[in-house]
Amino acid sequence: MNPLYEQMSVSVFARMSALAAHHGAINLGQGFPDFGWPDEILDCAARALKEGSNQYAPSQGTPALREAVAAHYGRHHGLDLSADHVCVTSGATEALGAAILATVSPGDEVIIFTPAYDSYAPMIRRAGGIPREIALQPPEWRIERGAVEAAIGPNSRAIIFNNPHNPAGRLFHPDELEIIAGVARAHDLVVISDEVWEHILLDDQSFTPLASLPGMAERTIKCGSAGKIFSLTGWKIGWAAAPPPLTKAVRAAHQFITFATATPLQHGAACALSAGTEYYEKLLAGYRERRDYIVGELARIGFGVRPPAGTYYACADFSRFGYDGDDVAFCKHLIEDVGVAAIPPSAFYDRPEKRRGYVRFAFCKEMRTLEAAVERLGKLCA
Ligand code: PMP
Repeated sequence: MNPLYEQMSVSVFARMSALAAHHGAINLGQGFPDFGWPDEILDCAARALKEGSNQYAPSQGTPALREAVAAHYGRHHGLDLSADHVCVTSGATEALGAAILATVSPGDEVIIFTPAYDSYAPMIRRAGGIPREIALQPPEWRIERGAVEAAIGPNSRAIIFNNPHNPAGRLFHPDELEIIAGVARAHDLVVISDEVWEHILLDDQSFTPLASLPGMAERTIKCGSAGKIFSLTGWKIGWAAAPPPLTKAVRAAHQFITFATATPLQHGAACALSAGTEYYEKLLAGYRERRDYIVGELARIGFGVRPPAGTYYACADFSRFGYDGDDVAFCKHLIEDVGVAAIPPSAFYDRPEKRRGYVRFAFCKEMRTLEAAVERLGKLCA
């Protein structure tokens, strides 16, 4: 067996969800919403299924969805894209994987900021590359110029950047975006910009795609996800958007990972991307209410928690409870003795010594589910 996979354990999401089910815990671990998808989108996909779009889609994605993605980013973020820039993938996870395989060669170094989505480091290694981890420091989780410059070496090839950031919930400041862009331009690096949370903004801030910074459009592969924008994580429809030379390589990698993505769901996603501003306003109002509720209650119970500016995750410091185990042990305690599941962010670090005393709660749940979880978490006060 390939030693990379032989030594790899099952993902933390699967482990915590199985433990939560076993103990009847309320699952605020894996981030899948239990509300929020509009019926019209489902009708659109159902129509596509019934009317016979059930055969292979073109490998790079249906023209309708690629055009819809390009138009969406033109409308919302002022990006100048066409269908030729887009490759539709099975979720952003595949877009990230294809982007990494397309750009990283054996021996190349790739900068990642941890805590980071847990697919980055294994995919870099699978491509023969070496992850160069920069651990962001809580509670600010800021990107520091000195740390990024120190991570650059003669074999640096790419940076993987996630904004808004899971699990820290940060929307990075313009000066931090400029640090990434400046280093990428100076050292001729590709940036794989994981922007799946671009629409889940919980304050009155607007999102700046990295590709919109000077000199970045030609070196950025932007990864997006219909699962996050439309609360349809099970559809696994995502995409990579990049200038044609980079897209060509991403499409080449994608064609031998999945070849193509579910055709009727691509029709549904194309339909969804035509949603007007009311859709986003309603979605965000729902998440803001939940963010304010969960952050207020976690603080009252004794967690150290700052309101996330983006994503539907709250990252909470549990050190005030005087618990002497690590975050994995604390999450097991939460599931087994308190009845609530969360995710230990140490799973998002490449080197175990970077572990911290935080847990991540997903608040993309019905209010009554959050209220029931808060009632159980109240036991921690005792
Ligand atoms: N990147 C980040 C930062 C994420 O949080 C997630 C999902 N939690 C993904 C990528 C994967 O998105 P998808 O479900 O579309 O594969």
